[in-house]
Amino acid sequence: MHSSINKSRPFHYHGIYPCPVCRLNQLKAMPLMDAMACDCCRHIFIADLERQQLKMADRNPPLTWHWNGKTWKGGHLEGVEWGWSSWIFGLGLIIFPTSLIGVAAYTFPPEPGSTLSWLPVAWTGLTFLSHLAIVLWLVTEFYQFPIGMYLRVRRQQLFGR
Ligand SMILES: [Zn+2]
Repeated sequence: MHSSINKSRPFHYHGIYPCPVCRLNQLKAMPLMDAMACDCCRHIFIADLERQQLKMADRNPPLTWHWNGKTWKGGHLEGVEWGWSSWIFGLGLIIFPTSLIGVAAYTFPPEPGSTLSWLPVAWTGLTFLSHLAIVLWLVTEFYQFPIGMYLRVRRQQLFGR
């Protein structure tokens, strides 16, 4: 069955599937239960074969993924869509305060050559970075992506232990 791993195939209970959360490990079917588990990030999933879906069981509201024959799609909260409006909101959250401060720095420029003439530029950059961090944090929170776990395993894969 390992040779067919790259071909399109339906989601069934005894196949081999990557973990949709960390994408590092394979899901293991749990005996006597309609559940699958990942050894790496320790999440438990409920399989819905009829709808070709996988639901994170240990989270409320649960995250759901859809199997498209090759890979997991989605990973959204039930009833909540991270659609384009969320991306625009996230983008606005970064751009709006940054441009506001940038415009203020441009409109009221400091005396050229004065000791604090670098401050408006640094302030603008700092505003951009801090709001970018907020949006990135929201996205990882939303997808429940285990960044710490991912970086640790990747480091082990790259450099050995
Ligand atoms: Zn995992």
